[in-house]
Amino acid sequence: MPELPEIEVLARHLRPLLCGKTIRGVDVRRAKVLSPTATREFRRVLIGSKFAGLSRRGKYLLFQLQPKAHRQSITLLGHLGMTGRMFLADKNERPPKHTAVILDLGGENFIYEDTRYFGRMTLDTNAVEKLGPEPLSADFRPTRFAEALKCSRQAIKIKLLDQTLVAGIGNIYASEVLFRARLSPKLAANRLCRVQGQRLWRAIRDVLMEAIECGSTVPLNFCAGKTDRLFYFGRAPNAPDYYTERLRVYDRVGKPCPNCGRPIRRIVQAARSTFYCHHCQKL
Ligand SMILES: [Zn+2]
Repeated sequence: MPELPEIEVLARHLRPLLCGKTIRGVDVRRAKVLSPTATREFRRVLIGSKFAGLSRRGKYLLFQLQPKAHRQSITLLGHLGMTGRMFLADKNERPPKHTAVILDLGGENFIYEDTRYFGRMTLDTNAVEKLGPEPLSADFRPTRFAEALKCSRQAIKIKLLDQTLVAGIGNIYASEVLFRARLSPKLAANRLCRVQGQRLWRAIRDVLMEAIECGSTVPLNFCAGKTDRLFYFGRAPNAPDYYTERLRVYDRVGKPCPNCGRPIRRIVQAARSTFYCHHCQKL
């Protein structure tokens, strides 16, 4: 499932491809992904609008649209859910089986495909308003972060998934961040001392920045590739699996810890897997 770094990489990839293009037609094949926006409303707003910008907030894509008729720009919100893909394809190409929405941009189609339809392409931006600070912005302050941790008795791994604490971290990067900060995933959030809180704050930024940098070098081709296990499935055939290569603990149970060589362990917290090194992440 894509998290902040993958969405950031995707936003950077799509921005120059979309900006300036006008939506000439809208084909909704799965109305569920527009929810709560109705298909009719979606089509009315989008047809004739021009892509004016693209940014990211947490795990959401924010497409800025400039409608033809009036001055005020509109935000179209995109979320890839578990298995979503958003990419441009030649108009002559047949859209994939699980295509949810097709935006006709003239010579090309902008396609949103989702095998499980957990993602969204909607005009409702409420989800974004509830998000906590953006971890790579100046809004994410170590002192405020530490205060927020003090209010929770949840295990720190579970707390990191709370999008109101900090936006954009999911199950993969929560494990990676805790490994970097050398903190046990089982530690209660309110038990972190000041130094540990700062270390965690720093680790969040470092891990996410490094992942964006790494993802930026992946040659993306979202039309190709069949794997939907992980996000960067669009890579060329036989190209290395950049995604898993850069992870230190996630999905590496039994493999040696990059620090101490002891086997990585897996535990289940709130029904989701956590990977960690019992030796390096004692506290
Ligand atoms: Zn270790």
